[in-house]
Amino acid sequence: MEFLPEAIDKYVAEHTAEENQLLKEINRETHAKVMMPRMLSGHVQGRVLSTFAHMIKPKTVLEIGTYTGYSAICMAEGLAEDGKLYTLDINEELEDMVRAYIEKAGFKEKIDYRIGNALDLIPDLKESFDLVFIDADKINYSNYYDLVIDKVNKGGFIIADNVLWSGKVVGDKIDKDTQALLDFNAKVHNDDRVENVLFPVRDGLMVLRKL
Ligand code: SAH
Ligand code: CA
Repeated sequence: MEFLPEAIDKYVAEHTAEENQLLKEINRETHAKVMMPRMLSGHVQGRVLSTFAHMIKPKTVLEIGTYTGYSAICMAEGLAEDGKLYTLDINEELEDMVRAYIEKAGFKEKIDYRIGNALDLIPDLKESFDLVFIDADKINYSNYYDLVIDKVNKGGFIIADNVLWSGKVVGDKIDKDTQALLDFNAKVHNDDRVENVLFPVRDGLMVLRKL
């Protein structure tokens, strides 16, 4: 998963603003109690998402794949004054935990957390978005992109996580998830509705600006 030499990775973390107490707690509890804690964005990527959100100052954000709420809370930090973040997840088992974190973060009014299959929930959203974070099942990345692209405002952004898939996108064993990410990366790279940059942050962030 780590692409940078360990010493550089450590130096980066040491020279990136710390997580606040609540984010530390979510990070810790996710690792202690929840399956697949590696899915959580974590300290440095969380600060990257928060910084992007502060730069964009979005009025509306859509997150696909809430998990334990870490990335949603990071992005909500940068919302415009009357901004709103929608976050979708199919896993109802984490609902109570996530609702408690959202409340503790003081984002009860700003974060609209919905449980269900994002493929079904996205078409129901009436809003258009300044920022979309795609981070659910990799198989559906291209489907999520097709569902959201017309809901993204001109000059708005789509960020897709894990697009380097631990380096498997350049490996020789192509499983289903890897193929889905290769297809997604090629699709957005060749789509003239967006301008794309692949940031080699953690597991790879594809950042798209809608033209
Ligand atoms: N964004 C989080 C991590 C998300 S992990 C963070 O950075 O901290 C991926 C999440 O996608 C999981 O919680 C999983 O339940 C959810 N997911 C998978 N398939 C989904 C679907 N079809 N619809 C909505 N959520 C889905
Ligand atoms: Ca992720």
